[in-house]
Amino acid sequence: MSNIQNEMRAVAKELLESGKATVVLGWEKGTMPYDSTPVMIRSAADVDKLIWDEYCLQNLSTYLIDFINSEDKVAIFAKGCDTRAYNRLVHDKRINPENSIVIGVPCSGMKNPKVAAKTPAGAEVPMANACKECRYPNPVACDQKIGSDVTPWCTAKDFSDVEAIEAMDADAKAAFWKEQYSKCIRCYACRNICPACNCTNCIFDQSASGWCSKDVNASENQFYGVTRAFHVAGRCIECGQCEAVCPSDVPIMLMNKKFIKDIDTLFGNYEAGLVTEGTTPLNSYQVADPEEFM
Ligand code: SF4
Ligand code: SF4
Ligand code: SF4
Repeated sequence: MSNIQNEMRAVAKELLESGKATVVLGWEKGTMPYDSTPVMIRSAADVDKLIWDEYCLQNLSTYLIDFINSEDKVAIFAKGCDTRAYNRLVHDKRINPENSIVIGVPCSGMKNPKVAAKTPAGAEVPMANACKECRYPNPVACDQKIGSDVTPWCTAKDFSDVEAIEAMDADAKAAFWKEQYSKCIRCYACRNICPACNCTNCIFDQSASGWCSKDVNASENQFYGVTRAFHVAGRCIECGQCEAVCPSDVPIMLMNKKFIKDIDTLFGNYEAGLVTEGTTPLNSYQVADPEEFM
């Protein structure tokens, strides 16, 4: 990975010195060996902070939301999932492609620091769950690219875990999800890190609306989980960040993947985050749409 790291630093230096970018978003080493955290670089003198290793899991595209009305020209390093997130955010008009530069980085799969922290010393930390199923490790779109493309290790969606839940009867399903969401502490880390969960005003910050409360209990938590899954349906780019950061190990991707499976069944095979405009599933409606569920 060090060649990519050297290329990252050289590209960042050139962009900042030339003034093509005023900010570069990448990753820096944190306090623990498994911490590779997002960093914002504004000076060419600081580019040696940038690193590239197997813990650069966090999606950087989400941070561009903070720059939508900024004068800054922001360059980000972007793995395959980051570029799908970037496309999705452009499609949602939540970031400004005019003030951003995407530097694509091929990815060989990342590891989850949360899992690493629990792994005994000397044992191998496995690839992050979402990365095991990643079909787009190479950038799907970018302004410039560093490194060489990798061969994707996964070419088809695997819904076997979703099918196992679908095979349960209704009571067993209800008991399963109640148990999972009983663990949720409503920290909203899954929402905050998600590039698809990008509303300006989130319903879960509007407790006066009467739709939901801040109570942390199995019922309210499940309402939160299901609502969030509906809100990202059709826009989830399968980066797995929501589940990776969940301190309570709620299997959030299982619900996301159920929606992805259903969308594929109803609309044909669909891959979120590959386009920046046009009509995509659950992205438009017509007055004559069926609504027998209402
Ligand atoms: S989801 Fe794919 S592109 Fe993203 S970190 Fe994992 S392997 Fe890399
Ligand atoms: S719901 Fe999870 S997997 Fe989907 S885009 Fe958001 S963080 Fe990524
Ligand atoms: S990250 Fe986990 S614990 Fe926090 S709100 Fe989401 S599901 Fe609940």
